[in-house]
Amino acid sequence: MASSPREERRFQGQGVSPGVARGMAYVHRPAHDEVPSYPLPEGRAEEEIGRLEKAIAQTRAQLTEIQERLTGAIGAKEAVIFDAHLLVLEDPLLLDEVVRAVQDERVNVEFAVHRTAHRLADEMSRLKDSYLSERAADILDVARRLLQNLSGRSHPGLGLIHAEHILVAHHLTPSDTAQLPREFVRGFLTEVGSKNAHTAILARSLGLPAVSGLAKIDGAIETGAEILVDGWRGLVIVDPLPGTLQEYDEFERRRAQAEEDLNALRETASTTRDGRHLVLSSNLALCDDLPLISMCGAEGVGLYRTEVFFFQHDALPDEEAQFENYARVAEAVKPHGVIIRTLDVGGDKPLDCLDQPAESNPFLGLRGIRLALERREMFRTQMRAILRASAVGEVKMMFPMISGVAELRHAMQLLEECRGELRAEGRSFDEKMEVGIMIEVPAAALCAADLAREGIQFFSIGTNDLTQYTLAVDRLNEGVAALHDHAHPAVIRLIRLVADAGHEAGLWVGLCGEMASDLAMVPLLLGLGLDELSAASLMVPRIKRAVQSLDMAECRALAQHALTLPDPCAVTAACEALARERYGDLLG
Ligand code: PEP
Ligand code: MG
Repeated sequence: MASSPREERRFQGQGVSPGVARGMAYVHRPAHDEVPSYPLPEGRAEEEIGRLEKAIAQTRAQLTEIQERLTGAIGAKEAVIFDAHLLVLEDPLLLDEVVRAVQDERVNVEFAVHRTAHRLADEMSRLKDSYLSERAADILDVARRLLQNLSGRSHPGLGLIHAEHILVAHHLTPSDTAQLPREFVRGFLTEVGSKNAHTAILARSLGLPAVSGLAKIDGAIETGAEILVDGWRGLVIVDPLPGTLQEYDEFERRRAQAEEDLNALRETASTTRDGRHLVLSSNLALCDDLPLISMCGAEGVGLYRTEVFFFQHDALPDEEAQFENYARVAEAVKPHGVIIRTLDVGGDKPLDCLDQPAESNPFLGLRGIRLALERREMFRTQMRAILRASAVGEVKMMFPMISGVAELRHAMQLLEECRGELRAEGRSFDEKMEVGIMIEVPAAALCAADLAREGIQFFSIGTNDLTQYTLAVDRLNEGVAALHDHAHPAVIRLIRLVADAGHEAGLWVGLCGEMASDLAMVPLLLGLGLDELSAASLMVPRIKRAVQSLDMAECRALAQHALTLPDPCAVTAACEALARERYGDLLG
């Protein structure tokens, strides 16, 4: 009987991270399936069994180590319980069934371990024998440890998917996104999410195509389905037909060519036609992306979001671990530098290990520098690590979410204490390391002249938050996403105020929010007087080409004009008109 032809299905959402990805869907349902289940790709069984063997060896080593430690601390008698755990690891009842499930049913090893362990434990506990009930608990305990070792994390969750896939989820937090196994995730789609949310910003920075705002996608796509994610157009195609795939192959070929042409700009400077140099740097989320920084021709890193590094750990990373990470970045971006932003958690970026009480309005709560000043030891540890990294390469430090002079003074005083400690310990650091602040709260923008006199060297304007707080528009809420507009006259007037106040006091002024990636805004930002722009690496070559095709006189005239306009649409129209004339092909 002829099989019925597959039907291609299309879903339209919002493209939150550009690019195209194809692969097997994995539907993540955190409440139900802590342990993922997916079909193994052809020929993967042996590799999967190899993973199981490795996890068994790791588990055995851990259990033996715990047993030895306990023997020393409380005596061999108590430590004997671990013999039972070690025996589970040799149990053919468990292991043979897991291997059979992987080989015959072609399911992933995590699922096989989870299912088999639960089946055996259920059977044992039903026998109502206290010895066997304890064995049931042992089996589950060992299975949990095996799963942790299979994922390499103490909270396995999404880290357990070891096959190339497109992740489908109702919602992903920034911390989920930071922990995705990069080698396996090709892209993601979510029901909830917006372009300005940190999850989307992270996806752009990681170069992961992503589409959000897809209502009810979870029920419409099953794990194992073939899908294509088009992050440029916000389109998701399930079971794409051969014609669609061909169309996309051609699209990708043209895009790759365009990318190559842009990358040819790598060695050129981001200088306007009349010779004004704009420092153009990259935003960095994860060290895995360091190669992108030089590949895209950026002048180092203008914003390193260190919270993403913290999200990859189950506990707060200590000074040494942080130092190594910051030093690695400083080394990798040479001969350029890196601006390391101190921890900005809170808001939509809770850090689980801090166990913060829930807030009814987290964006207006204990976030960024406020939290740092409360958790002083954590803050000092980070500042010590950053200072020490300044001995390795060109490092600058930046405080997030400053809203007034008192906060800045407090942070500077703690920084000075850290410097004193390091001097006393004979540790080297750059005594002249530049320190700056993010301007992302309207209060800070309005008080920029006061803040500029507090011994800092630069401002970096965070337009994602500055827009959110100035316009009272939640950056996560898709319902008001259209109102989150950085071209609003209030926002551009604040940018001008900050640029002027900074320059007046001898500071340099940059901008690291997503406005820098909006190609139509480049002439306006130049005209408003910014000295630096920092954006996702993917955007750097495009921004560079935009800068190279502009003239400062026209950018200043545009800014003058835009500052007189009463509404965002008029500002955008004026900017787009100039951008189209100079580099229309880039605007699409
Ligand atoms: C900003 O607010 O513009 C910014 C760069 O910081 P984040 O997006 O990390 O809040
Ligand atoms: Mg911000």
